[in-house]
Amino acid sequence: MAWPARTRICLDCRTLCTTTCPAGHRRVVDLWKGRERLVDAVWGPKAHRPALLAAAPTVKSDSTWSGWDIFGIFELDWFALFAIAGALFWFLGASIVKLFRKRAALATAQGAVRRGMPLLRTGQIGYVMGAGEAVAFGCELRHADTVMLRDGATIGFDVRLDSGELVRVPAGLCAFDMTNAPAMRDVESYLASIDSWRRDPDPFHHDDARRVTLEPGDRVELLCELDPCAGGTAGYREAATASFVPRGFVRLRRA
Ligand SMILES: [Zn+2]
Repeated sequence: MAWPARTRICLDCRTLCTTTCPAGHRRVVDLWKGRERLVDAVWGPKAHRPALLAAAPTVKSDSTWSGWDIFGIFELDWFALFAIAGALFWFLGASIVKLFRKRAALATAQGAVRRGMPLLRTGQIGYVMGAGEAVAFGCELRHADTVMLRDGATIGFDVRLDSGELVRVPAGLCAFDMTNAPAMRDVESYLASIDSWRRDPDPFHHDDARRVTLEPGDRVELLCELDPCAGGTAGYREAATASFVPRGFVRLRRA
């Protein structure tokens, strides 16, 4: 089953969303059409952006000239060898300077300026019911301790609380408590899945990537208030059990 689509992003808290920011912020742009505003929010306006962060031009060459041809053009002597060694050192030095400049330029990335959804510990903990694949995930990318991207979605699942009640979590977007979340293993394929327009300057520049996954059998805490289900109970087989749904945006913590 596919994860619910996330095609927009809040420039304030960097939460991926479908329509509006779940935390109520107003500056939400389309990942595709609002690209320039997103890149501006991360790297500053184009005119003030360091040149090293500009989209790298694609250099194409039809030349069949090879470096080895130099042996055919010049008769190599000691002087020529010294000249080549000097050129190599110059090239190396210039590359190192360029690398440091690029690192300094990348350090200017700006992350979220506001918090995401408030996560309140409620003590409503239980087991994810069912069997099979992951039912929800949360991701977070950070750079220099600021959030560059928050993401979370669920295909919908049921939780049997320790108190016996049933909570029905609907499919949609969700927020995870990412404290102590493990490192994300394949960041590039994750980024490719949310952003097919992968190119510099990268609005999701990061030095830390985390991902938490929720599967049947896992323990989970619902970090939001619960409302009684419209039906009151969980169906004929669970007639004696009260069932609930999360109020508002779904917020979760792997317990
Ligand atoms: Zn927001």
